[in-house]
Amino acid sequence: MKILVANLGSTSFKYRLFEMAEGEERLLGKGGSERVTDFGEAISGALRQMEDDGMVASRDQIEAVGFKTVLGRGLSGCVEAGDEVLEALDGFAEVAPAHNPAYAAGIRQFRDLLPGARRVALFETAFYQWMPEAATRYAVPGEWHEAGIRRYGFHGASHKFIAERSAELLGRDDVAAAVRRLYQDGPAGIDDPLRVISCHLGGSSSVTGIRNGVAVGTSMGFSPQSGLPQNNRVGDLDSGAIPYARKALGIGMEDIERQLTRESGLLGLSGVSNDLRDVKEAADGGNRQAALSLEVLVHEARRWASSFLFPLGGLEAFVFTAGIGENNPWLRAAVCAGLAEFGILIDPERNEACRGEEAEIGSADSRVKVLVIPANEELVLAREVFRKVTNLN
Ligand code: ADP
Repeated sequence: MKILVANLGSTSFKYRLFEMAEGEERLLGKGGSERVTDFGEAISGALRQMEDDGMVASRDQIEAVGFKTVLGRGLSGCVEAGDEVLEALDGFAEVAPAHNPAYAAGIRQFRDLLPGARRVALFETAFYQWMPEAATRYAVPGEWHEAGIRRYGFHGASHKFIAERSAELLGRDDVAAAVRRLYQDGPAGIDDPLRVISCHLGGSSSVTGIRNGVAVGTSMGFSPQSGLPQNNRVGDLDSGAIPYARKALGIGMEDIERQLTRESGLLGLSGVSNDLRDVKEAADGGNRQAALSLEVLVHEARRWASSFLFPLGGLEAFVFTAGIGENNPWLRAAVCAGLAEFGILIDPERNEACRGEEAEIGSADSRVKVLVIPANEELVLAREVFRKVTNLN
């Protein structure tokens, strides 16, 4: 079955085309465009390109399109991307302004341009459907909660992949199999614990605690600008700061929103860049502000990781993934520094040698397995869409 995974940003459209079958997963090709002003044109162009390049003999061979939708009002999971999904995306458009309108537009375009293909949305919140209710609540008045203001969690595709892959690497096939079936069957109720802390550190970052393949808590909350400092988004901020900033800085809500969503995070802290490589280079060159912003990132990653130790009640695996987590041995060493008492010990040579590939970086006497697992969110999408469509047929 040919499955197209569509990745839509506010001004970009990227895709990957997979051949999926039981026991077969093959990437047939990828492509897309930046600086998109018209999604219809971008998608038509991509479909033509796939035919011209011989990825497909005809676009009608594409049986399903998967969308990594971010946040829906009142809706989550892996679901057919019909009117209900469009309404849910529209309902929270201002909470995820860079993503929801783009996905809604993309789903509508595919409906028109590829009417024979099944459309499936996998919400980034899906992995958190089984968090304990207490982990989802903010201490706000009831009306706020009823308006949908609660902790949702994001990067679900990535953390689910880590749940499955780490279980495979630890020889826990029962947990890996349960993770594969999670969105079809719900949690499997396995007793023998496999407890994982997954650190997705990238352009945007989150840390999730996972017990037997099910999330117990995560650093992201109501919107994707919560938790750790992000590339240019603020991460957690005391709600008291906003009314105060309004007065003290003499700025309005629009400025506040822009500054917190585009001029904060690594960029705001360092004053250098939203890309970790540039910030590290500046820090190595003696820029104190840049060095401090790296310290904040490490501090927040450690703080969030430690916050899941009690809910999990122990730990078997500690995992790094995504652009920052996969490629920066110095940062992994800093996050794991001084944790021998918790059974986490890095092997400096293994850690240094690992740049972007799957590896175990813990030392031989580390009780907890310390792993680097490259993120592959598109593959997760293709797998989930395949399962969904196979179940529908
Ligand atoms: P996104 O969330 O946009 O998918 P990524 O997971 O690709 O982002 O992560 C982007 C971050 O990873 C950037 O801050 C970048 O500096 C960092 N990164 C990516 N590749 C490398 C590398 N080879 N060395 C160091 N840092 C890297």
